[in-house]
Amino acid sequence: MRSSEIHVPKTLQEALSILEGNSGIQVLAGGSELVGGQYERLISFPEGIVSIAKLRELRKTQRTEQFLEVGACTTLTGLLSLPKGTLPSPLREVIGTIGNLGVRNIGTIGGNLCSMQHFMDLWPFLACMDAQIEIKSSTLARWASVYHLADESGSPFLPPKTLITRVRIPLVFYNFVFYKKIGPLGLPGDSSALFVCLASIKHGKVDAFRLIFSGAKAFRIKDLEMMLLGRKLDTPIKEVQGILQIYRQAFARHAWYDGRVFNNTLEECFGRMFSS
Ligand SMILES: Cc1cc2nc3c(=O)[nH]c(=O)nc-3n(C[C@H](O)[C@H](O)[C@H](O)COP(=O)(O)OP(=O)(O)OC[C@H]3O[C@@H](n4cnc5c(N)ncnc54)[C@H](O)[C@@H]3O)c2cc1C
Repeated sequence: MRSSEIHVPKTLQEALSILEGNSGIQVLAGGSELVGGQYERLISFPEGIVSIAKLRELRKTQRTEQFLEVGACTTLTGLLSLPKGTLPSPLREVIGTIGNLGVRNIGTIGGNLCSMQHFMDLWPFLACMDAQIEIKSSTLARWASVYHLADESGSPFLPPKTLITRVRIPLVFYNFVFYKKIGPLGLPGDSSALFVCLASIKHGKVDAFRLIFSGAKAFRIKDLEMMLLGRKLDTPIKEVQGILQIYRQAFARHAWYDGRVFNNTLEECFGRMFSS
């Protein structure tokens, strides 16, 4: 049997120093990803683990008029227990569909965003909402968009030897919300993906628009989102078809998921938006 060295730091700074001094060490928050994929009686752990779940600095919540800020080790159940109306829609509904109660009791928002195997369920929503993450190493701290957790090829990415410490979610209201979970329920894997579109419609025109399809990789065309701004909801069908065509062709170039599924969902989404 292999033994693992498990570090349980008492402060965030101590956790960051351990990360800095131990290449390849695995960060563990709730641990649901590491444990959830193992079905043997004995669970195997990596050689080195740094457990951050109990760090008080990573469990604080703050709310202002503009944003909700939560520590990265806030559990999904912790998020659901915030007073009604605190979480911008549709986060409450989405979190309620993640795993089961046991998973939500230990799984954290940071762990959901930092999986390097797959984009988990909160990532596309928080990326569409322009949520910010605080990224810390032993020497640096900076804020970045959640979208930066995808690299140029669209794969999950986190700078080495860093931790996500806080997540800042803007309290913005979207009056067009469309999302679809594709593939089997439960722990996301190769055949699962999420289609998310959030838009703000004002006076019959598109005022804000975000569309992300994520799973093993992430797909988004920011330029096309900009092109949609100011469009009327009664935009002629031919023009809407033109935009759909650009999306379809761009997605076909990425080809990490069945294009027919993406195209059908895209049509359903646009059909709802431009007929409302
Ligand atoms: C049965 C089952 C069903 C599930 N169903 C779903 C589902 O429907 N939807 C879904 O999205 N997920 C699902 N999951 C996956 C997982 O439980 C959640 O995504 C959960 O939020 C992960 O949080 P965690 O704290 O347990 O992460 P961990 O397992 O502790 O960590 C996940 C990854 O993130 C890294 N990490 C964690 N925190 C940080 C941090 N602060 N900074 C840097 N890196 C960090 C870890 O090193 C690891 O690589 C399921 C899991 C199980 C076991």
